[in-house]
Amino acid sequence: MNALCLDDWIVTKQNVEGQIRTFQAEFGVMPDACPKCGVVGRLYKHGAKEIEYKDTPAFGKKVVIVATVKRFKCRECGATFMQHLPDIQPGREMTRRCAEHLIEQCRERTYAEMSRETGVDESVIRALCNAEYEKIKPARRPQAPEVLGIDELTLHRRRFV
Ligand SMILES: [Zn+2]
Repeated sequence: MNALCLDDWIVTKQNVEGQIRTFQAEFGVMPDACPKCGVVGRLYKHGAKEIEYKDTPAFGKKVVIVATVKRFKCRECGATFMQHLPDIQPGREMTRRCAEHLIEQCRERTYAEMSRETGVDESVIRALCNAEYEKIKPARRPQAPEVLGIDELTLHRRRFV
């Protein structure tokens, strides 16, 4: 297991500067099928891109993963795509565990506090928590009382917006 405690990641360098711990890393699992045409074994490496992902804070410091993400091209259909990173929250520049950490905390803490702690933008945290709320809302409905009091509605809204 590596210093990130994430399966199949290779940490090439780490350092601490002030309040930020940075890991240079790459994900060791390469794709073998093209996500566009599905053909196996026709991919080749087509460059790489450095992307910064925020991770869960640890020991009072922000954690940043500077990942070298590989780009691939398909010989069959010509499609290019980035390496799939299962530990990264889809559509967000943060790890899944960082997103889970933020979602878990957004009931009790302010976005400003969480932003200071993780380095994630307040607006991103708000969007993340609102998206999560939208996802769980329908599942909650059957358990809700038939008539919701104003206070209860306000409370739900305040918690997530
Ligand atoms: Zn293809």
